[in-house]
Amino acid sequence: EINNPTIQKQSITRQKKINSRTQSPAKEFVFTASDKSSPESNALTYKVKSGDTLDKIAQRYHLNLQDLLAANQITNPNLIRVDSLLNIPLQTKEKTQEKSNTALDIKSQSLKNNHIQQLKQDIAKLKQEYSDSSQITQSLTDKTSNSSASNLTDNLNNSQETIVGTVPNALSNYNSVLSNSIGDKVGPDLPALLSPEQYLPNAPKKFNGYIWPAKGVLTSGYGMRWGRMHKGIDIAGPVGTPIVAAAPGEVVYASWNSGGYGNLVKLKHPNGSITLYAHNSKIFVRKGQFVGQGQQIAAMGSTGFSTGPHLHFEIHPLGSTAVNPMRFLAKKSN
Ligand SMILES: [Zn+2]
Repeated sequence: EINNPTIQKQSITRQKKINSRTQSPAKEFVFTASDKSSPESNALTYKVKSGDTLDKIAQRYHLNLQDLLAANQITNPNLIRVDSLLNIPLQTKEKTQEKSNTALDIKSQSLKNNHIQQLKQDIAKLKQEYSDSSQITQSLTDKTSNSSASNLTDNLNNSQETIVGTVPNALSNYNSVLSNSIGDKVGPDLPALLSPEQYLPNAPKKFNGYIWPAKGVLTSGYGMRWGRMHKGIDIAGPVGTPIVAAAPGEVVYASWNSGGYGNLVKLKHPNGSITLYAHNSKIFVRKGQFVGQGQQIAAMGSTGFSTGPHLHFEIHPLGSTAVNPMRFLAKKSN
């Protein structure tokens, strides 16, 4: 509380002296806010009257005492002089109304900025993650081309999509053992496009997956059947229906099989797997011959242990017994 009469008296006398010297005494006072360029320049100015305390003034303007002190850079609240000018910081309504024209703009602008800020953070995060993962690949492949990872990362900055590579068929086409049901019509797809070097003389064949070996109706799947293991799938069709190579490879067997397969063709593929085509009416290839994917190797028949014209087809991966061919065939049927 500042009801010290001596201080008030002193300040009054000083005030008088100052007034006699200068026409604008405000600048001289301790409590006058001097910063006209501050955002608080719209603040009210209050002239301290006799009997005022900072507490009372703060209450009158619904201000926090600390705010009032801060607005006037008062370090000693016990020193207050009559007729000195106080900055009353405008709060709430008046201020808000003054700025209401721009408030929306500012708000949307700051929302925008927040959004951009967020995006920037996300991009930075992705860049970090990407460069972390690409560093592994990079160290495995080429340690000298340090720029490759950063170039790729830079490409990520462009909003345009960069197509790195494509697969011949959608991965989902190879998804499931159950993708084709018994009774579905199936058939060979167009063979996968070969890479250019496949056309060079003595080029090593490359493996690009299997295609359906015949067009027809899937009549039996892989698995236990009538108490016995059925090691392949059956595709039924008219006698003479073309049987094609499911993948490029070498003919390793092309003759009669007395074990029940009838006229049998076996192909060995670049990935080391073997495919098997049974019950053919005719065989069009000979052992040692190389065939391309989709090339006709036989005609459908009912030779061997067979109850009607169909192809019995098996896939034997390298070092494995027969597996379910449906795992490798496109579920889309022609
Ligand atoms: Zn069969």
